[in-house]
Amino acid sequence: MITHKWNVDNVDNLAGNQAIQEAAMWIREGEVIAFPTETVYGLGADACSNDAIEKIFSAKGRPSDNPLIVHISRLEQLKQAASTWERTAESLMNAFWPGPLTIVLPKSDAIAERTTARLATVGVRMPDHPIALALIDAAGFPLAAPSANRSGKPSPTRGEHVYRDLNGRIKGIIDGGKTGVGLESTVVEVIGETVTILRPGGITKAQLENVVDHVEWDRALLEEKQVPKSPGMKYTHYAPDAPLYLVDGERDFFQGVINQHQSEGKKVGILVSDELADQLTADEVRRVGSNQRIDWIAQQIYHQLRSFDDTTTEVILAEIYPDEGIGEALMNRLLKAAGNKVLTQE
Ligand code: AMP
Ligand code: MG
Repeated sequence: MITHKWNVDNVDNLAGNQAIQEAAMWIREGEVIAFPTETVYGLGADACSNDAIEKIFSAKGRPSDNPLIVHISRLEQLKQAASTWERTAESLMNAFWPGPLTIVLPKSDAIAERTTARLATVGVRMPDHPIALALIDAAGFPLAAPSANRSGKPSPTRGEHVYRDLNGRIKGIIDGGKTGVGLESTVVEVIGETVTILRPGGITKAQLENVVDHVEWDRALLEEKQVPKSPGMKYTHYAPDAPLYLVDGERDFFQGVINQHQSEGKKVGILVSDELADQLTADEVRRVGSNQRIDWIAQQIYHQLRSFDDTTTEVILAEIYPDEGIGEALMNRLLKAAGNKVLTQE
């Protein structure tokens, strides 16, 4: 399959934009199109069509029991995706949409079974990106859109990441430059007045607490945080080609870990803040920005993780960050990318 590529960087008058119209036409014909959102690039198709959704799963190589998030461009569209929603969910929509918050709601009959992996619920969000909103508008129905990467790889935050993973596997890519947040949406479930975070992401727990009284971590997330990490999970996620280890310790410990791997003859890459980069030596150094700006690190992390795939790096060692604010999501993704392998200073 030839993959069309459209560059869309003029965000004015997107409704009349030729590329958006063409891309929407393919989507209406049941094809799959990648497009930028404010979190990461999404791989969009008609959320109401099992056949179209099947193409997403096969392009990504995604296990079919992993549900997709459904994207809408305006509130009137919500009833096409969800059957009901309560006041607490509505407060969240008012506060955070458009934005990186996915709300799990009872599914409408219109949403295809493949989209939700046969669950009775559907995750819905309204992305805060002019291209995403214009594309959904032009399609005229909700789009299911997981991240536009091959399953298991870091999510794409630039058009070229999508191209590299999916060229020849999808109908088209709208390249709108770098994405803003750099990590995926926060996924929440709402039961009565309680909001449970199923996946940390672009909206932090503290931001949710500004709007609703009861916000909790899902038990599975808490267990992931507390239980001593055991490598090996159901699926790999966000992973670069070389094995990744997180290093929890001071500068000297970090350098010791680098030296040890090098003494075994391995090419060592490190993924570190500017502050730490200045104090370490390794074969490949990737700086993710100042450790005073975790939000900037989040924007860069997938790009820098992917960049090791173009090198001969045999092992990647990454710094860890405080598990607060956007750091909640950043650490969640780094731990998954590392398959929970953490080297801790005694
Ligand atoms: P991705 O599309 O790769 O960002 O992943 C979407 C994630 O959203 C899934 O892996 C689930 O964790 C979550 N999700 C989507 N739909 C539901 C749902 N109906 N119930 C619970 N979690 C969901
Ligand atoms: Mg994904």
